[in-house]
Amino acid sequence: MIIVLRPSATERDIRVLTAKIRSLGLSPHVSRGKERTVIPVIGDERVLATVPLLSYRFVEKVLPVLAPFKLVSREFHPKTTVVRARGLAVGGKKVALIAGPCAVESSEMIIRIAKAVKRAGATGLRGGAFKPRSSPYSFQGLGEEGLRYLAAARDATGLAVVTEVLDTRHVALVARYADVLQVGARNMQNFELLKEAGSSGKPVLLKRGMSATLKEFLEAAEYVVSRGNDQVMLCERGIRAVEDYTRNTFDLNAIPVLRELTHLPLVADPSHATGKWSYVHPMALAAVAAGADALEVEVHDRPEDARSDGEQSILPARFASLVTAVKRVARSVGRTA
Ligand code: PEP
Ligand code: MN
Repeated sequence: MIIVLRPSATERDIRVLTAKIRSLGLSPHVSRGKERTVIPVIGDERVLATVPLLSYRFVEKVLPVLAPFKLVSREFHPKTTVVRARGLAVGGKKVALIAGPCAVESSEMIIRIAKAVKRAGATGLRGGAFKPRSSPYSFQGLGEEGLRYLAAARDATGLAVVTEVLDTRHVALVARYADVLQVGARNMQNFELLKEAGSSGKPVLLKRGMSATLKEFLEAAEYVVSRGNDQVMLCERGIRAVEDYTRNTFDLNAIPVLRELTHLPLVADPSHATGKWSYVHPMALAAVAAGADALEVEVHDRPEDARSDGEQSILPARFASLVTAVKRVARSVGRTA
């Protein structure tokens, strides 16, 4: 339930109402806007329904929220949130670019690719140090060594480092090196990890689970935000559907639907969504046309030698031409890139 107060509501009114809400065992999250104060209430809505809230003269509206996510809902926060980490800003007019290899393979490699994507216009550097691989025999990432190389690449370029955290035991370690914690598709409903990431103080890039509905996706984001961290980006990265010619099916619908439902900024990952380098460019442009706030793209300068996802990684030169095309599409939908 979201309680909207009249502009004339005073601090005393807010104290009276929040005390009442707490006395019912519910928790009010007061949000003071320029024109209005709104109070989303977390807990069993049915309890509040027994109180005639509109009898308080300073209450303007009471909006029941049927969806089980509130803090991430656009009703709670009408303006799109901008997530910031160093020079990376996701959610503003400018479409942001996060690029880099699937996995960090060596210090030279990540610095080389970081410089190339920065030159092309990226403001975020992606690269996994802890890799969630479907097979236990596949390359699992360099761990802390990989994090150190990412930090070196940041020092060399100024790019914001976006890297995945797989396990609650690693959150503090990854947060020491990263600018943004990525929670991957396979962990979208790892609720303990979501809570830890929410408490880490770092922005979070949350990827949609491959079989998750948008409601489940938003509920997962709610876990992070309910820890007091609203610096969360949602990333569409393809879902499992009947088609298996591509690695996943890029759910383009997710972008306008999420745009309507949530204030969190939206990232699209055309690399995992398609699984093939030649499909990355068209789907990246489609995502920008649909309203994505950022792209996360896998880039490798020797994809044939990549230790993971070489087949979906684009070369730095192709990334540069993608950026040129993104700028054109962004302009046509009233954005910049
Ligand atoms: C990744 O971005 O490195 C990754 C593993 O993607 P996903 O979690 O979307 O599969
Ligand atoms: Mn990958």
